[in-house]
Amino acid sequence: MVLGILKEQNFNRVSIAPSASKKLTGMGLKSQMETGAGNNAGFGDHLYSENGFDIQSRDVVLSSSDIIISIAPISDSEMNKMKKGALYISMFAPYQNNEVLAHLSAFPINVVSMDMIPRTTLAQSMDVLSSMASLAGYKAVLKAGDHYNNMFPMMMTAAGTIPPTKVMILGAGVAGLQAIATAKRLGAVVEAFDTRAAAKEEVMSLGATFVEVEGAVDDRGAGGYAVQQSDEYLAKQRALVQERALKSNIVIATAQVRGRKAPLLITQETIDNMKPGSVIVDLAASTGGNCAYTENNNTIVKKGVTIIGNSDLSDELSSVASTLFSNNIINFLQIVVKDGVANLNEENEIIKSALISKA
Ligand code: NAD
Repeated sequence: MVLGILKEQNFNRVSIAPSASKKLTGMGLKSQMETGAGNNAGFGDHLYSENGFDIQSRDVVLSSSDIIISIAPISDSEMNKMKKGALYISMFAPYQNNEVLAHLSAFPINVVSMDMIPRTTLAQSMDVLSSMASLAGYKAVLKAGDHYNNMFPMMMTAAGTIPPTKVMILGAGVAGLQAIATAKRLGAVVEAFDTRAAAKEEVMSLGATFVEVEGAVDDRGAGGYAVQQSDEYLAKQRALVQERALKSNIVIATAQVRGRKAPLLITQETIDNMKPGSVIVDLAASTGGNCAYTENNNTIVKKGVTIIGNSDLSDELSSVASTLFSNNIINFLQIVVKDGVANLNEENEIIKSALISKA
């Protein structure tokens, strides 16, 4: 079977790194990639050629591969160019748009959506959402620091004492926890909010303060995900977020509820009263944002507060993000491909969850 890698149209990342070559060969796969697919991740065509990948045009990759991979979904007209029965692996986020499944069923291909891999210990090595979120959390802090006109650690100098930067994290999931760890390493004083009871211990183990809002809906049956909170809870939380935001210098907002619009936690009133020079990085921007002023994929300044709306910050770490994404894909392919043949065995829970459309 032939595996094909497409160049991303709007990302710097590439879905398979040259380092995957040995494992792909070991699975009995031949690999081809679109010209220049890895350029923006620092992997030039020569690195792929040296590792046994064939370099081809986009059309050849689309029409002659048995397994095709792209991070972002491609257009319908391009999906129509694929071989009948091909396996297409991408990220369709069907939990955000339930029309996706009906739409895909019209194509005679098998579709795996990597964002549907279960968040279980067994599937951890294939969890692209965690890999990308972790990098995004790290980059969010660096980006905030870049826009902030001050430094993170407390510093005592002959010219005076500089107080540490105060960082507030909204949502202590994968991205939020990495943001906490990064801000702590840089010397900031960090506090975090989350609705999940389990998050408290994780936040505290990283040396940050957990800010508790009483009355959260019990999430024990939600498989580790957050659940929708009541209007009353969210109003109480917004008031507490406002109180803490006015004392903060940097806010990293990551709060999301799978399949729903992100909760609004930072109101216009909060921003209007924050210290000028403060910076908000809203990683929940693509699902509506945690901040009232957030514009997805845009950086704006309101009353002196910089608001960066970006849910794809892992793309700014394109080399490491591509390597981790590639490792996740290889780990998934290893449960699917045996002796060069793909077997989408739905008795395997991971395959069953991720296979969102069948040929
Ligand atoms: P996510 O991106 O869906 O949400 C980010 C965080 O926002 C979550 O921690 C969520 O609880 C929080 N949140 C939601 N509403 C909020 C509100 N009103 N205020 C404050 N915070 C709010 O989450 P994620 O990072 O993808 O992680 C989801 C869960 O999956 C976590 O529990 C994580 O530990 C778990 N997980 C498990 C595994 C594994 O076991 N292999 C892997 C990855 C993630």
